[in-house]
Amino acid sequence: MILAPTMLPADYHTHTRLCKHAAGEPLDYVRAARRRGLPGIAVTDHGPTPLEYDGRHRMEMDEFPDYLRGVETARQEDPSVLLGIEADYFEGCESFMEGWLAAHPFDLVLGSIHYLEPPPREKNELRHLWDFGAIRAAWKRYFELVGRMADSGLYDVVAHLDMLKRNGSRPLDSDLRDWALPALDRIARAGMAIEVNSSGLRHAVREVYPSPQLLRWAREREIPIVFGSDAHEPEQVGFKFDLAAQQARECGYTQALLFKRRIGSPVSIDGSTPTGRPLASSGSRI
Ligand SMILES: [Zn+2]
Ligand SMILES: [Zn+2]
Repeated sequence: MILAPTMLPADYHTHTRLCKHAAGEPLDYVRAARRRGLPGIAVTDHGPTPLEYDGRHRMEMDEFPDYLRGVETARQEDPSVLLGIEADYFEGCESFMEGWLAAHPFDLVLGSIHYLEPPPREKNELRHLWDFGAIRAAWKRYFELVGRMADSGLYDVVAHLDMLKRNGSRPLDSDLRDWALPALDRIARAGMAIEVNSSGLRHAVREVYPSPQLLRWAREREIPIVFGSDAHEPEQVGFKFDLAAQQARECGYTQALLFKRRIGSPVSIDGSTPTGRPLASSGSRI
């Protein structure tokens, strides 16, 4: 990638038209990243599942080869493009995910929880996380699922950690502490990173995922970070990364991870200066 002078981080969360609710090809996102002067980009569309699970918001299994071809086309223009995937975690997904993720040459696997309920028999019946409002049980269950996702060892990065707040719902501070800290401990133990996701600044909550409080707790545990815009159209690549990077710095971060073949290496937040001692080793994965 041809680098322009920048203080912005790489964008490790972007989508494509294949997920049915985004626009554009990988190449469109890669060109947008170059226009913004970002130091890198990962294409991380919503991965398929053979189960009857939320087919409305993801590529079909037989579209996955199209996805690979789209990333390959982008790589012909920019060999540094990462092949990523946003893979959902839900109860019962492990045996599929373990085999499927290992079968493809991913550089980066985002682990996401978008729903609290197990897959229904019929497609499209799931209620999104953020439709639960301020129900305490929803936040509690969510962080328990995050902990299980970490324990699974199948994913590299926890995406949009507190996305339940999307429509403005918030737990009590004391509840957040009780439920989030054990989840963060499990993330740290698993050697996972978390994503600083700027899409919350486009949503009703108008706040980066995760909140400054969660990010400070993550920093205390030396949990590494990456940045993502969650772009669903090319124009959103690098969305408000200046603010996201500023928040990370205010919470004590100076480094983010650079991924390749599912190994994270620390670099400065703007991706330009490899530095010495890692914040935490992210380790290799299956
Ligand atoms: Zn999406
Ligand atoms: Zn997501």
